[in-house]
Amino acid sequence: MSLPTLRAAFGEHQTLQLPEPHTLPEPHRQFWLGVPKKIVTEQRLVNEAIDRGEIYVVRRTASSTVPTIHRHQCASAVKLIDRGETWEQLWTDYINHRVTIHPGITLEMPVMMDRTTVENLPAYTACNRCTPALSQTRKRRQHDTTPTKLSSIAHKHIGRTFVTLDGTELGELISFTVTADGITLHFPDRQHYAGLDEQIIVLPASALTVAA
Ligand SMILES: [Zn+2]
Repeated sequence: MSLPTLRAAFGEHQTLQLPEPHTLPEPHRQFWLGVPKKIVTEQRLVNEAIDRGEIYVVRRTASSTVPTIHRHQCASAVKLIDRGETWEQLWTDYINHRVTIHPGITLEMPVMMDRTTVENLPAYTACNRCTPALSQTRKRRQHDTTPTKLSSIAHKHIGRTFVTLDGTELGELISFTVTADGITLHFPDRQHYAGLDEQIIVLPASALTVAA
């Protein structure tokens, strides 16, 4: 089955036609036969969200606690917004043996919000490609948390989000190494070294932003 054939089937919301004789093993054939229906259902949910005014797509990378906000038409969001494209990517990965499919597989749905909800987020970055109409391009969290001395960092802080005094979010603490003159904090995509007398902000556990 060629990609254009699959796309045509998806686009017209018709039952996916597999060529005969097909080469897919039966459970896989059944799986792909069910995909157009999933696309219709998911696309309806997305379209309903847009109709409600939830026109922003909120994306968060694994290493960042600050989400990026896109217009739903953004090229960075289309792979989530166009459910045909989302599933087509799985098909491409499947035929190239990059992914194993199973009946319960689900694909990431976009997190969508209206403008008021976006503006109420404690922090966000507006995408610089699609430049959504928001009040700020980089909204930074207001930290009213009292800074913590690095000498008091302990195991209970692992998993908490750390911010430097100048407002740079370091991410969630994975581990730390104490040496005679300082401490190295390990985060998913960086390390931060500081003296034990220096201070850092440890966000309250409840200060999470948007789930991925
Ligand atoms: Zn964008």
